[in-house]
Amino acid sequence: IEKYKKWVIAYTKELRLPMTFYTTIINAVFAVLIGAGFMLAGGNYDNKFLLNLLFYIIITPIITVTLSKIMYSSENEMIVEDAIKRIESILERKPLPEAKEEKKISKASIKFDNVTFRYEDAGKNALNNVRLEIKEGEHVAFVGPSGGGKTTLASLIARFFDTTEGAITIGGVNVKDIPTKQLMSMVSFVFQDSKLLKISILDNVKMGKKDATREEVMEALKNAQCEDIIEKFPNGVDTVIGSKGTYVSGGEAQRLSIARAMLKDAPILILDEATAFADPDNETKVQQAFSQLSKGKTVIMIAHRLSSVVDADKTFVLKDGEIVEVGTHKELVEKDGLYAHMWNEYNKSVKWKVGA
Ligand code: ADP
Ligand code: MG
Repeated sequence: IEKYKKWVIAYTKELRLPMTFYTTIINAVFAVLIGAGFMLAGGNYDNKFLLNLLFYIIITPIITVTLSKIMYSSENEMIVEDAIKRIESILERKPLPEAKEEKKISKASIKFDNVTFRYEDAGKNALNNVRLEIKEGEHVAFVGPSGGGKTTLASLIARFFDTTEGAITIGGVNVKDIPTKQLMSMVSFVFQDSKLLKISILDNVKMGKKDATREEVMEALKNAQCEDIIEKFPNGVDTVIGSKGTYVSGGEAQRLSIARAMLKDAPILILDEATAFADPDNETKVQQAFSQLSKGKTVIMIAHRLSSVVDADKTFVLKDGEIVEVGTHKELVEKDGLYAHMWNEYNKSVKWKVGA
């Protein structure tokens, strides 16, 4: 950032002089015009001359404005080209092959069988030979250093990508053989940066279940501890988010997306660093909402704050795309490995915050 700052300032300074000249000249054309006009007229200032001069004096600023517009349009063209490139890169993506028949899936258990995954154009694997099993109803945690592959692992369950090698099964069925609609009905996500659309709160939550009644939505909002958010706005649940003066904080957006997940009521729940944005005010509420949401579900929780995963049935520690440790909090702390180290660091940081 420091380097960029220096570069931008130097670049701007370099262009200052030419830009000043350019602006002065094109804006001063009419001054030149008056001088030149009088000179060329050679003392013959009749009505025809004055009218002509007047005409040009009025018309030249339009030329100036047009020139400026042409200049700025090239800048806009670059922005547009860039945007189109990004849109095209998405449109060019080939959809994954789609299974046709709905499968009978009786259990919300998850199994990774020797899964290796590499992102397209990436230099190295994001996941290497991952083997793990999550039983139905189990609450597990993925922890580990940033870039270790936690998010990748979680997104493979919902088949955001297909594995490079190995298979992922839900209730014994390969996710590749489950039609998207059925798979989506089985898995709910709450991400770190919860996205809300510029539609009413009601419709935002309803995205979890299109045919939900108003009562069901209200119930979900209540269970997700969202009542204070709704009370804040005069229009209640019909408030359109992002319209004038109706912004929600990161923590509030999170609770609303928890409500969305509650309404959806899928048997598998994935929480990816979902408490990271919550401020202390929100955090207790978000935690309560999570425990409501997690009841009776298979839950995968990815967390930075290790305090939120101490109660997990099992914790997988991921580093550089591999599972390096597995166990309960107690077992892992006793093992004195990477997790124990992270736990120590975490406690230090908590103390440090309290002391500061
Ligand atoms: P974590 O969630 O544990 O921080 P991620 O799963 O996001 O880790 O990332 C694992 C590895 O995959 C990292 O090396 C990261 O740079 C890479 N990665 C993540 N997303 C992409 C992507 N869309 N394209 C290419 N590489 C990616
Ligand atoms: Mg992540």
